[in-house]
Amino acid sequence: MDDIKHILNKHADAIIQIRRDLHRIPEPAYTEAKTSAYVADYLNKLCLNVTTGIAKFGVLGAKVFSDSGNSLMLRSELDALPINEETNLSFASNHEGAMHACGHDGHMAMVLGAALVISELSDRLSGRIHFVFQPAEEGPGGAKPMIEEGIMDNPRVDYTLGCHLWPGVKEGQVGIKAGPLMAAMDRFDLTVKGKGGHGAMPHLCVDALDVGTQIVNALQRIVSRQMNPLSPTVITVGQFQAGTTFNIIPEEAYLSGTTRTFDREIWRSWPQRLETVVKGICDAMGASYSLDYQPGYPVTENDSWMADEIRSVAESVVGTENVIIPESTMGGEDISFFLQRSKGCFYFLGVGREGCAPLHNPKFDFHEGVLLTGVEIYCRAALKLLRMG
Ligand SMILES: [Zn+2]
Ligand SMILES: [Zn+2]
Repeated sequence: MDDIKHILNKHADAIIQIRRDLHRIPEPAYTEAKTSAYVADYLNKLCLNVTTGIAKFGVLGAKVFSDSGNSLMLRSELDALPINEETNLSFASNHEGAMHACGHDGHMAMVLGAALVISELSDRLSGRIHFVFQPAEEGPGGAKPMIEEGIMDNPRVDYTLGCHLWPGVKEGQVGIKAGPLMAAMDRFDLTVKGKGGHGAMPHLCVDALDVGTQIVNALQRIVSRQMNPLSPTVITVGQFQAGTTFNIIPEEAYLSGTTRTFDREIWRSWPQRLETVVKGICDAMGASYSLDYQPGYPVTENDSWMADEIRSVAESVVGTENVIIPESTMGGEDISFFLQRSKGCFYFLGVGREGCAPLHNPKFDFHEGVLLTGVEIYCRAALKLLRMG
């Protein structure tokens, strides 16, 4: 057993305990006060240079090995989801209506665990490591406001590394891919305004519900008839509210939804494409509308050099045969903002087992042993990217 494995084994229980402590106190986006305090306290105990309150609850722990040299950022999310937990774990959520169902408790344990292990490897490293914990990954996104507060400048971050526990990759395996891994995702909110009236007299009304249904259908035609089928795109309308009872034609309909793509040109074109469809249908039907299109996260795209570096690190940890090229996903991630500003890699750490619950499910759980794999990859990546001399 080499010395890193030895140090890691010594701290294995402590790393798993961090995950359990944080699993008990899940806090949804922009309410991460206790989580943020726990993380900051832990980093302070390791004598890092800690800054709190970045983009409300974001935390940065800086470990400086030398004034010159490169800087590496290890990134985790702080936020949980508004879900009632149904796992029956002994350390299940203490917070009614909130749960770490996206594995961010595990992500925090891995980045804190890396800080713990790396504190024993300082004499072998140069440059600096930023241990970064961001709020609100599940939306509206904490990465961008943290960047706007300067966390990637002075000194500049050269490399960004992060991972997501991933049921789509088998436990024991690691999924790493150069180029686009996760889609660009936006949100839109639409209110259609018609003219309400009696359900028996449609000719005296403009039926906002009917106009809304035409819009829902026409939006799907954008995907199926305007997009190149070889370039994956999604438009989902997730909310549609209209009407009060059976015999009133509704005056208003409210719809909201999301778009996904990997293609920059299509990403830029979404607002205009949606507006054209909505305006055309509303004009034809005599309705008016207000459409609020909000750009969300860019494509999560890995630098090919960095992906190669991390692949070779992962191969040394789990074996060449266990490092796979994962399927890309239409899910989005705001680590994309960090990856746009540095050489970066975001990879999937496999937690997939027969019958396991998916992410965002009230029964989501994972085998905690994978956290040690994640910590080891972080530490060996630091040793590779920030090696002395
Ligand atoms: Zn999630
Ligand atoms: Zn997540």
